Amino acid sequence: MTNCKKIAELIFSDVDKSTEYYEELYPARDLPEGARVTRFAPSPTGYLHFGGLYAGFASKLTAETTNGVFMLRIEDTDKKREVEDGVTGIVTGLKAFGVTPDEGVTGFDSEDGKYGPYTQSLRREIYRTFAKKLVEEGKAYPCFCTPEDLEDIRNRQENEDIKGYYGAYAKCRDLSDDEIIEKINAGIPYTVRLRSMGDIQRKIAFDDMIKGKIEMSENVNDVVILKTDGIPTYHFAHAIDDHLMHTTHVVRGDEWIASVPLHIELFRTCGFKPVKYAHIAPIMKEENGGKRKLSKRKDPEANVSFYIEKGYPEASVKEYMLTILNSNFEDWRRANKNEDISKFPFNLKKMSVSGALFDMVKFNDVSKNVVSVMTAEQVYNLVVDWAKDYNKVLYDLFVANSDKAKAILNIDRDNPKPRKDIACWEEVENYVSFFYNELYTPDYTLPENINKEDAIELLTKYKDVYSESDSKEEWFNKIKELCSACGFTPNVKEYKQNPDAFKGHVGDVSTIIRVAMTSRTNTPDLYYIMQILGVGEVMNRIDKAINSYKEA
Ligand code: GLU
Repeated sequence: MTNCKKIAELIFSDVDKSTEYYEELYPARDLPEGARVTRFAPSPTGYLHFGGLYAGFASKLTAETTNGVFMLRIEDTDKKREVEDGVTGIVTGLKAFGVTPDEGVTGFDSEDGKYGPYTQSLRREIYRTFAKKLVEEGKAYPCFCTPEDLEDIRNRQENEDIKGYYGAYAKCRDLSDDEIIEKINAGIPYTVRLRSMGDIQRKIAFDDMIKGKIEMSENVNDVVILKTDGIPTYHFAHAIDDHLMHTTHVVRGDEWIASVPLHIELFRTCGFKPVKYAHIAPIMKEENGGKRKLSKRKDPEANVSFYIEKGYPEASVKEYMLTILNSNFEDWRRANKNEDISKFPFNLKKMSVSGALFDMVKFNDVSKNVVSVMTAEQVYNLVVDWAKDYNKVLYDLFVANSDKAKAILNIDRDNPKPRKDIACWEEVENYVSFFYNELYTPDYTLPENINKEDAIELLTKYKDVYSESDSKEEWFNKIKELCSACGFTPNVKEYKQNPDAFKGHVGDVSTIIRVAMTSRTNTPDLYYIMQILGVGEVMNRIDKAINSYKEA
């Protein structure tokens, strides 16, 4: 033991604090009974994946529904794989969709909370203090194996069931103190390894909040806890951080399940109470009748910035995430149509064990529903916010005349069954384009069943009767009268019973006017469209349509 202490002093001459110091610095949290403390702990090694946002949201909801705390911790111990703007991408992606932490990293260079620093590269001395204690207690030791030595071990283990640094392969486990001291003094690089006390014959069982009871063999590997540069591995940092930050529930990707025996051993070896785990299966996508993981490489929608750039509202993304997070969410939503999403009793136990299915069509439907029940004012504000960065032309038009933009967005919004045209703000330009000559390229093509001569006659007569001050009823009555005057019938049923007696019905007449106004055959309420265009523009568009039919 004395020599372990000596070795620890030699390795950790930079450490001047004790583990007790940190235990006191980060006391237990003062939270109500049952409150869960969770964290999202991404590595800034690439863009924020939709699966990350989804896992972060599950983590946040777990804390929120129990009046707990949700943290954002940046796990940047692998500097080689780190990408520029990685942290900013994570913070902005989470913020855009309301998965904001209560505590932790809040920006590229800022953080909030009493349990920090929340960026692992700033916690070096904390890890080293705890590693020092393990070396002092003989629970960890320096390993001088070179990459070539380790390669050699791997080659010799080809036929072994268990791979890694253990048993007879762990050649530095039993070096004498003198050998260790000599190597360190000679400047030979070393890692620090856990001295595992696991036994492959023994099982370890734990209750995963999502996957249920899991039983695995104990860890036997003397894993590296500090790399040669003195930086911890993920495993060690996980145990130290989640202990000192008083995390109660670790919600993370299920690629980590295999490491749980090691993690539990690390917690116990350090004298910590292990956390509870909830392992999330990757989000899946249907393809050619089969299923595969939502892929960074193949699917643009795997990148959270896709939703930012297209302008999907936060409410839609959350609503869809809950749809795939908890199978009972849709029933809850049907029973609680106008309830805020935060009232939903999210439950980790109701998450899919095998992986939720992502479906872009369903996602868009969910988003259209969410947008359809927003007020015009809400839509306007969100569109302007988005367009400021992504569509300058639309932004200028909307800001220059906000009353007009709101009137457009308000069409059909009060209906018990509002229209569902818009899934994301990127679609708004097309949706409103015919209201703005700057965005509008007319195309007066008529459906095949309507001929140009009839259109010319109808539009010419319509010009004489249209009045901007008509009520909606008067407006429609005039269209019906126009039918009779031009050989069409105002009565669709009558037309169907005797199609040869008429040129068409009131629907066809409306279509002729609609095409003249908007170049479309399907639009929101035509009466309101014409009101917003104003009588001058209405007449102007009728003339242009008539001329185009005459020229053709
Ligand atoms: N940094 C790890 C990752 O990005 C986090 C795993 C965890 O949540 O513990 O996969």
